[in-house]
Amino acid sequence: MSTRKKIGIFGGTFDPIHMGHLRMALELKQRLKLDEMRLLPAHQPPHRDAPKVSSTQRAEMLRIALKDCPDLRLDERELQRNKPSYTYDTLQELRKEFVDDVSLALCMGADAFANLPKWYRWSELIELAHIVVIARPGWDIPVAGEARDFLDQHLNTSESLDSEPSGSVVFQSLSLLPISATGIRELIQTGESAQFLMPDAVWSYICTHSLYR
Ligand code: ATP
Repeated sequence: MSTRKKIGIFGGTFDPIHMGHLRMALELKQRLKLDEMRLLPAHQPPHRDAPKVSSTQRAEMLRIALKDCPDLRLDERELQRNKPSYTYDTLQELRKEFVDDVSLALCMGADAFANLPKWYRWSELIELAHIVVIARPGWDIPVAGEARDFLDQHLNTSESLDSEPSGSVVFQSLSLLPISATGIRELIQTGESAQFLMPDAVWSYICTHSLYR
């Protein structure tokens, strides 16, 4: 049995954090027997529109959501860098912090993976971490193109997280909740409730601060 420490990294805009994110992070931590699972809110995501609420508020909602969950932790390093959040820079930083022996698992939904070839230094990410791709309701794994070629080239089983610190793409199928932050923002904008799609305390925060109206 390997004793290699395994750390999961789950990035996103979390605009806002919802049960889909939380269940996926928790299930993945358990399924892959990760020692840690970190949620990293992006400050300025380079590949998509600016988030609707400030970084401080998005981080605060994450803090509230994770308060009673010792299995998941918030990592605010991208918010402390006052520039676009490149995952490459983040993984490099984490690599410097942890000994080479630690296995890093960059986790993302299939939608994010299909977009990967647009990311800064995307093909080098695999030298710094494993990439764990999770099937997401309504999103298929790309059938062709650069992301598909990359998947075919690096696809491996989850045991590779124990045997190597980086280098594999691992595919996981989880029972995911069909919730999206876009859907939540639309509900609120049209004056409907988004209660029960996120922890109650996060919903209270959104209501108190009149976010996404
Ligand atoms: P938006 O609708 O604004 O795009 P989102 O809900 O997709 O937001 P993001 O912060 O963009 O959330 O996503 C961060 C990560 O969470 C991505 O890798 C995405 O695939 C994943 N993710 C989002 N929603 C779910 C869900 N319901 N189940 C599992 N993974 C999810």
